Amino acid sequence: MRKKERIAAIFTRFEVETAHPKTELRYFSPFTLVAAVALSAQATDVGVNKATEKLFADAPDAESMVALGLEGIMERIKTIGLYRNKAKNLIAMSQIIIDQYKGELPLTREALQSLPGVGRKTASVVLNELGIEPAIAVDTHVFRVAHRLDLSRAKTPDAVELDLTAAIPMAWLSRAHHWLILHGRYVCQARKPRCAACLIADLCPSRQSEV
Ligand code: SF4
Repeated sequence: MRKKERIAAIFTRFEVETAHPKTELRYFSPFTLVAAVALSAQATDVGVNKATEKLFADAPDAESMVALGLEGIMERIKTIGLYRNKAKNLIAMSQIIIDQYKGELPLTREALQSLPGVGRKTASVVLNELGIEPAIAVDTHVFRVAHRLDLSRAKTPDAVELDLTAAIPMAWLSRAHHWLILHGRYVCQARKPRCAACLIADLCPSRQSEV
Protein backbone atom coordinates (compact mmCIF):
# COMPACT_ATOMS: atom_id res chain seq x y z
CA MET A 1 0.00 0.00 0.00
CA ARG A 2 1.33 3.45 -0.88
CA LYS A 3 1.96 5.87 1.98
CA LYS A 4 -0.84 8.18 0.92
CA GLU A 5 -3.36 5.34 0.92
CA ARG A 6 -2.08 4.05 4.23
CA ILE A 7 -2.49 7.49 5.83
CA ALA A 8 -6.02 7.76 4.43
CA ALA A 9 -6.87 4.32 5.83
CA ILE A 10 -5.44 5.20 9.27
CA PHE A 11 -7.41 8.42 9.65
CA THR A 12 -10.58 6.92 8.19
CA ARG A 13 -10.48 4.35 10.98
CA PHE A 14 -9.87 6.99 13.64
CA GLU A 15 -12.79 8.96 12.25
CA VAL A 16 -15.12 5.97 12.23
CA GLU A 17 -14.18 5.16 15.81
CA THR A 18 -14.40 8.74 17.16
CA ALA A 19 -15.70 11.32 14.71
CA HIS A 20 -15.31 14.27 17.08
CA PRO A 21 -12.39 13.72 19.44
CA LYS A 22 -12.04 16.22 22.28
CA THR A 23 -9.30 17.38 24.57
CA GLU A 24 -9.44 15.82 28.02
CA LEU A 25 -8.47 19.14 29.61
CA ARG A 26 -11.43 20.97 31.15
CA TYR A 27 -11.97 24.60 30.17
CA PHE A 28 -14.88 26.92 29.57
CA SER A 29 -13.35 29.94 27.80
CA PRO A 30 -10.30 30.81 25.68
CA PHE A 31 -8.55 32.10 28.83
CA THR A 32 -9.16 28.94 30.85
CA LEU A 33 -8.10 26.88 27.81
CA VAL A 34 -4.73 28.60 27.43
CA ALA A 35 -4.18 28.43 31.20
CA ALA A 36 -5.03 24.71 31.33
CA VAL A 37 -2.81 23.90 28.36
CA ALA A 38 0.09 25.91 29.81
CA LEU A 39 -0.32 24.07 33.12
CA SER A 40 -0.34 20.68 31.38
CA ALA A 41 3.36 20.72 30.44
CA GLN A 42 4.94 17.74 32.19
CA ALA A 43 1.67 16.97 33.98
CA THR A 44 -1.26 14.69 33.24
CA ASP A 45 -4.61 16.07 32.07
CA VAL A 46 -6.27 14.37 35.05
CA GLY A 47 -3.88 16.13 37.46
CA VAL A 48 -4.38 19.49 35.73
CA ASN A 49 -8.18 19.12 35.82
CA LYS A 50 -8.09 18.47 39.55
CA ALA A 51 -6.05 21.61 40.16
CA THR A 52 -7.92 23.86 37.74
CA GLU A 53 -11.26 22.94 39.27
CA LYS A 54 -10.17 24.92 42.34
CA LEU A 55 -8.18 27.51 40.41
CA PHE A 56 -10.81 28.41 37.81
CA ALA A 57 -13.58 28.53 40.42
CA ASP A 58 -11.75 31.46 42.00
CA ALA A 59 -9.98 32.86 38.95
CA PRO A 60 -11.93 32.31 35.70
CA ASP A 61 -10.37 35.28 33.88
CA ALA A 62 -7.25 37.42 33.69
CA GLU A 63 -8.43 40.03 36.22
CA SER A 64 -9.34 37.51 38.88
CA MET A 65 -6.13 35.56 38.24
CA VAL A 66 -4.04 38.65 38.97
CA ALA A 67 -6.22 39.42 41.99
CA LEU A 68 -5.66 35.90 43.34
CA GLY A 69 -1.93 36.62 43.43
CA LEU A 70 1.09 34.38 43.25
CA GLU A 71 0.57 32.68 46.63
CA GLY A 72 -3.10 32.07 45.92
CA ILE A 73 -2.36 30.48 42.55
CA MET A 74 0.49 28.35 43.90
CA GLU A 75 -1.71 27.08 46.72
CA ARG A 76 -4.29 25.85 44.19
CA ILE A 77 -1.90 24.25 41.67
CA LYS A 78 0.82 22.90 43.96
CA THR A 79 -0.02 19.30 43.00
CA ILE A 80 1.21 20.01 39.45
CA GLY A 81 4.86 19.73 38.43
CA LEU A 82 6.78 23.00 38.00
CA TYR A 83 3.94 24.83 39.74
CA ARG A 84 6.04 27.78 40.94
CA ASN A 85 7.11 28.75 37.44
CA LYS A 86 3.70 28.02 36.03
CA ALA A 87 2.07 30.27 38.65
CA LYS A 88 4.50 33.10 37.83
CA ASN A 89 3.74 32.71 34.14
CA LEU A 90 -0.02 32.72 34.78
CA ILE A 91 0.25 36.04 36.62
CA ALA A 92 2.50 37.60 34.00
CA MET A 93 0.33 36.30 31.16
CA SER A 94 -2.83 37.62 32.82
CA GLN A 95 -1.29 41.04 33.40
CA ILE A 96 -0.35 41.34 29.72
CA ILE A 97 -3.84 40.25 28.66
CA ILE A 98 -5.28 43.01 30.86
CA ASP A 99 -2.77 45.71 29.84
CA GLN A 100 -2.54 45.01 26.12
CA TYR A 101 -5.71 43.16 25.17
CA LYS A 102 -8.45 44.63 27.39
CA GLY A 103 -8.75 41.40 29.35
CA GLU A 104 -9.46 39.17 26.32
CA LEU A 105 -7.07 36.45 25.22
CA PRO A 106 -5.58 37.42 21.83
CA LEU A 107 -6.25 34.68 19.30
CA THR A 108 -3.43 34.95 16.79
CA ARG A 109 -0.41 32.67 16.90
CA GLU A 110 2.01 35.58 17.13
CA ALA A 111 0.22 37.21 20.08
CA LEU A 112 -0.31 33.91 21.88
CA GLN A 113 3.34 32.92 21.57
CA SER A 114 4.42 36.28 22.97
CA LEU A 115 2.66 35.48 26.27
CA PRO A 116 4.79 34.14 29.15
CA GLY A 117 4.60 30.35 29.36
CA VAL A 118 2.98 29.99 25.94
CA GLY A 119 5.17 28.30 23.35
CA ARG A 120 4.41 26.98 19.90
CA LYS A 121 2.82 23.77 21.22
CA THR A 122 0.42 25.55 23.59
CA ALA A 123 -0.53 28.08 20.91
CA SER A 124 -1.20 25.26 18.45
CA VAL A 125 -3.47 23.45 20.91
CA VAL A 126 -5.43 26.64 21.62
CA LEU A 127 -5.82 27.65 17.96
CA ASN A 128 -6.78 24.13 16.93
CA GLU A 129 -9.16 23.56 19.82
CA LEU A 130 -10.98 26.85 19.17
CA GLY A 131 -11.26 26.08 15.45
CA ILE A 132 -9.13 29.07 14.43
CA GLU A 133 -6.27 27.26 12.73
CA PRO A 134 -5.85 23.53 12.14
CA ALA A 135 -2.62 22.66 13.91
CA ILE A 136 -0.89 19.61 15.28
CA ALA A 137 0.83 20.18 18.59
CA VAL A 138 3.54 17.56 18.89
CA ASP A 139 3.83 16.29 22.45
CA THR A 140 5.51 13.09 23.57
CA HIS A 141 2.52 10.93 22.51
CA VAL A 142 2.16 12.47 19.07
CA PHE A 143 5.94 12.27 18.54
CA ARG A 144 6.04 8.57 19.42
CA VAL A 145 2.96 7.54 17.44
CA ALA A 146 4.09 9.52 14.39
CA HIS A 147 7.37 7.61 14.42
CA ARG A 148 5.83 4.20 15.01
CA LEU A 149 3.39 4.75 12.16
CA ASP A 150 6.24 6.05 10.01
CA LEU A 151 4.40 9.31 9.41
CA SER A 152 7.63 11.10 10.27
CA ARG A 153 11.26 10.24 10.91
CA ALA A 154 12.17 13.74 12.07
CA LYS A 155 14.17 14.27 15.23
CA THR A 156 12.46 17.32 16.73
CA PRO A 157 8.81 18.07 17.58
CA ASP A 158 8.75 21.06 15.21
CA ALA A 159 10.04 18.96 12.32
CA VAL A 160 7.54 16.18 13.12
CA GLU A 161 4.79 18.81 13.10
CA LEU A 162 5.85 19.92 9.61
CA ASP A 163 5.84 16.31 8.36
CA LEU A 164 2.40 15.61 9.82
CA THR A 165 0.93 18.84 8.52
CA ALA A 166 2.19 18.01 5.03
CA ALA A 167 1.09 14.37 5.12
CA ILE A 168 -2.37 14.51 6.71
CA PRO A 169 -5.20 15.71 4.44
CA MET A 170 -6.88 18.95 5.54
CA ALA A 171 -10.20 17.21 6.26
CA TRP A 172 -8.58 15.37 9.16
CA LEU A 173 -5.91 17.84 10.22
CA SER A 174 -7.74 19.61 13.05
CA ARG A 175 -8.78 16.30 14.61
CA ALA A 176 -5.49 14.47 14.00
CA HIS A 177 -3.88 16.06 17.05
CA HIS A 178 -6.49 14.54 19.37
CA TRP A 179 -6.57 11.18 17.63
CA LEU A 180 -2.79 10.79 17.83
CA ILE A 181 -2.61 11.93 21.47
CA LEU A 182 -5.43 9.65 22.59
CA HIS A 183 -4.01 6.75 20.61
CA GLY A 184 -0.62 7.26 22.25
CA ARG A 185 -2.11 7.69 25.71
CA TYR A 186 -4.39 4.65 25.72
CA VAL A 187 -3.20 2.22 23.02
CA CYS A 188 0.22 2.93 21.55
CA GLN A 189 1.78 3.41 24.96
CA ALA A 190 5.45 4.18 25.35
CA ARG A 191 6.72 1.08 27.14
CA LYS A 192 4.27 -1.52 25.98
CA PRO A 193 2.13 -0.66 22.96
CA ARG A 194 -1.16 -2.57 23.00
CA CYS A 195 -0.86 -3.76 19.42
CA ALA A 196 -3.39 -6.58 19.91
CA ALA A 197 -6.05 -3.95 20.73
CA CYS A 198 -4.96 -1.45 18.07
CA LEU A 199 -7.48 -0.59 15.36
CA ILE A 200 -4.74 0.30 12.88
CA ALA A 201 -2.34 -2.56 13.61
CA ASP A 202 -2.47 -3.90 10.06
CA LEU A 203 -1.46 -0.44 8.79
CA CYS A 204 1.45 -0.01 11.21
CA PRO A 205 5.03 -0.93 10.34
CA SER A 206 5.93 -1.11 14.06
CA ARG A 207 3.27 -3.55 15.21
CA GLN A 208 4.47 -6.27 17.49
CA SER A 209 4.32 -9.90 16.47
CA GLU A 210 1.42 -10.84 18.79
CA VAL A 211 -0.96 -9.22 16.28
S1 SF4 B 1 0.23 -1.52 16.02
FE1 SF4 B 1 1.24 -1.20 17.99
S2 SF4 B 1 2.98 0.15 17.53
FE2 SF4 B 1 1.54 0.29 15.82
S3 SF4 B 1 0.20 2.04 16.28
FE3 SF4 B 1 -0.81 0.20 17.03
S4 SF4 B 1 -0.20 0.06 19.18
FE4 SF4 B 1 1.25 1.44 18.17
